[in-house]
Amino acid sequence: MPKVFNWQLGRRMSYPYEAAFPKRQFAFVFNLNRCIGCQTCTMACKSTWTFSKGQEYMWWNNVETKPYGGYPQFWDVKILKMLEEASGETQRWENGVYQGKTIFEAAERRVGPQPQRVLGYLPTDEEWRFPNIYEDTPVGEPGKPMEFHKEGVSLPEHKTWFFYLARLCNHCTYPGCLAACPRQAIYKRPEDGIVLIDQERCRGYRKCVEACPYKKAMYRASTRVSEKCIACYPRVEGKDPETGGVPMETRCMASCIGQIRLQGLVRLDQDGGWAEDRYNPIYYLVKVAKVALPLYPQFGTAPNGYYIPPRWVPRGYLKQMFGPGVDAAIESYRAPSRELLAVLQLFRRTNRIIFRYEIQEGPKVYETVIHGKPFSLYNDTVIGYGEGGQELVRTQVEEPFHVRPNSHQNSI
Ligand code: SF4
Ligand code: SF4
Repeated sequence: MPKVFNWQLGRRMSYPYEAAFPKRQFAFVFNLNRCIGCQTCTMACKSTWTFSKGQEYMWWNNVETKPYGGYPQFWDVKILKMLEEASGETQRWENGVYQGKTIFEAAERRVGPQPQRVLGYLPTDEEWRFPNIYEDTPVGEPGKPMEFHKEGVSLPEHKTWFFYLARLCNHCTYPGCLAACPRQAIYKRPEDGIVLIDQERCRGYRKCVEACPYKKAMYRASTRVSEKCIACYPRVEGKDPETGGVPMETRCMASCIGQIRLQGLVRLDQDGGWAEDRYNPIYYLVKVAKVALPLYPQFGTAPNGYYIPPRWVPRGYLKQMFGPGVDAAIESYRAPSRELLAVLQLFRRTNRIIFRYEIQEGPKVYETVIHGKPFSLYNDTVIGYGEGGQELVRTQVEEPFHVRPNSHQNSI
């Protein structure tokens, strides 16, 4: 297999195709500390793209309750176990470099009835049946501290915990679905890195369903071809009538009630890394503040969805899910720098894609101590600009306070 560089793993890895990168890449950051599991994103997607016959169990966007929930059920537990069994070694990191095997490398060593280009499995019908099984089910016995809470947790320590994990296709840099397709029906668009299935070429072999470690390629029995999230590409292209001709965020992003989502386009360099774009908010959150991390980077697909980890969850669990950057990300999030706090205000202030931000400094409005460190709050103004340099949004760290006049006391 050819070797490609995967910056999330800090090393080169095997991939069935030579590396080829788009000009820009669709990417998003979700702040899991804020998700309320309302499923508005899920329904916004479903009512736009998957409301037809044969798509009843197709949830391109889903929000599952971790650790027990999953759609399809057990998807991550199963693939993590397969990865360990097939590679014969644990998934470990040393100095930010992944030492275990990816799903592409483990497939080379796998012994099974049929060879696989990408390590994976086909979920059963039963596993696809429940979009949020174990909703709101916490782990742990009430009132009893759990063993693994003793290490690494230093903030209101939660004896029981769960969190909501919102997911969609990660439009991976090295997609497992694309690598496994024997018809070469899956492609990555050169202009924005969105991964699509050519419905004419697909013959419904479901190799993509088997190979996607995130289980975001789905089979439609009524048409006998596979389908997946299309990243609302007409909106990203600025062709949706609502966009006014400028790149716009997807439906699931735009509808997010908890304001956990920010989506953008990042520029790529020659080896698939992100070209420096210091004031692109997605670039800043992932590469500069390092507060947002990829989901299961050890799979090796280089997913382009990034998550600010939930700070109340045991670190061991989070490190398995988001890699070695978890401690630093939580440290940075719970006492944010002046710049990070300002950039976090951009989440859901506009439905247009922000390509650049600028901060205008304001006065200090508050002082406190967070986890033993002094913290100052400044009422800075952050401005988001569109692709053409036009101002899209202007907001402040302190939200303006509006008092409703008495004459409307009884109105809603
Ligand atoms: S998340 Fe799955 S379906 Fe989406 S690009 Fe990656 S491998 Fe393909
Ligand atoms: S709309 Fe936002 S807050 Fe609600 S479930 Fe989806 S990601 Fe979470």
